[in-house]
Amino acid sequence: DAKYDIVIVGGGAGGIAVASSLQVRSPDLDIAIVDPAEIHYYQPGWTMVGGGVFKAQDTAKTMGSLIPSGVKWIKAAVAAFEPENDAVILDGCRVVKYDRLVVCPGLKLDWGAVDGLEETLGRNGVTSNYRYDLAPYTWELVQRMKHGRAIFTQPPMPIKCAGAPQKAMYLSGDAWYRRGVLKDIDIQFNNAGGVLFGVKDYVPALMKYVEKYGATLNFFHNLVAIDGSAKTATFKVSKPDTEPTIVTMDFDMIHVCPPQKAPDFIRVSPLADEAGWVDVDQTTLRHKTYDNIWSLGDVMNAPNAKTAAAARKQAPTVAENIVADIAGGSAVAQYDGYGSCPLTVERGKIVLAEFGYGGALKPSFPKFLIDGTKPSRAAWILKEKMLPPIYWWAMLKGKEWMAKPERLQVASR
Ligand code: FAD
Repeated sequence: DAKYDIVIVGGGAGGIAVASSLQVRSPDLDIAIVDPAEIHYYQPGWTMVGGGVFKAQDTAKTMGSLIPSGVKWIKAAVAAFEPENDAVILDGCRVVKYDRLVVCPGLKLDWGAVDGLEETLGRNGVTSNYRYDLAPYTWELVQRMKHGRAIFTQPPMPIKCAGAPQKAMYLSGDAWYRRGVLKDIDIQFNNAGGVLFGVKDYVPALMKYVEKYGATLNFFHNLVAIDGSAKTATFKVSKPDTEPTIVTMDFDMIHVCPPQKAPDFIRVSPLADEAGWVDVDQTTLRHKTYDNIWSLGDVMNAPNAKTAAAARKQAPTVAENIVADIAGGSAVAQYDGYGSCPLTVERGKIVLAEFGYGGALKPSFPKFLIDGTKPSRAAWILKEKMLPPIYWWAMLKGKEWMAKPERLQVASR
């Protein structure tokens, strides 16, 4: 069987960043990334594709061009874990062994959980920025629409980039506003949860745009079925302390954010917690049961916002702690729960939500440059012009200056 110092499961935002961060710290490590995908996506760009700002192609690069040189790419899917044997099992039963394992295969978009959705995606006015091939269809529908009803849905938490469902609504509303058709379009935001955004400091700024676009907010509305040809969407409405009801609404266009859960091969593995996510110490990102396993990105159970911005901070934390572990020491770096959600409230302005565990605000910029609780032009320029190159050329290359890990304050394992 093949054996490596470090095996990384998943070559997404977290996986490539952690491989580079490890190499920068310890160039002699024998590292392998296991990922079956030919293409790596910059998913944060998909909101901008759906808003007509980016081209879809700008958000994709070949996996081969991103795997750091010297790191082995095993082009296969992991099917199972055998942590007692320090082994992962690939599709086709090949075994790969490791001294230390990093788990970051992202999460599963559960399109099939909404009745009738898969067969009508990309047709009948049914779209989603959560898929590379569909985000351009969002912009196509927005441009075509002159009147009627547009529904935007949000499933139960946790989801990746919790702001993305409403970002799609704001950018669509803005396009209709600029074209002078907004008054003829009925915007409905149907959210399975009970709040517009989980950190309350950002809600007042967002509510101004909800009002500007005349959007109706329907809380506790969970999408359960779509009939594409009839153009109807069905929601289970579960308000606290009332019997659930079923509501069906007509639409001309609907933007769906799909239900999300841990990938199946993670959920059934010994690494998972009861909800199916990889069970880590939220400070050191080390597995709670298996000492030679770490995890980062969307797949693990720390209560941070699931974003690439979070993975940007997590990758050097994991790398630092693994290198310390190899040297025989205990964990040295800590992750504070940082995540970021640039809410595109109109073309040219962003409400830049940045926060850590417990909703503590963690602004990266002084207030006079960007006040995250207010719509900001500077934050739009950051998102449009700066964050994509920072992602490709700094985060994925393991450049230290943009995410220095915090020193761990208390001794931990
Ligand atoms: P991913 O980047 O999804 O990578 C997972 C990798 O694992 C993939 O390459 C996949 O092929 C691989 N994999 C899967 N299964 C297996 C297997 N069995 N074996 C081996 N490999 C496997 N984040 C922000 O910071 N800001 C934003 O504005 C933002 N907006 C977003 C908008 C949208 C529409 C979406 C969809 C996401 C957005 N995000 C945003 C979230 C961000 O993209 C994710 O949080 C981030 O990509 C998570 O990184 P990851 O490495 O955990 O997973």
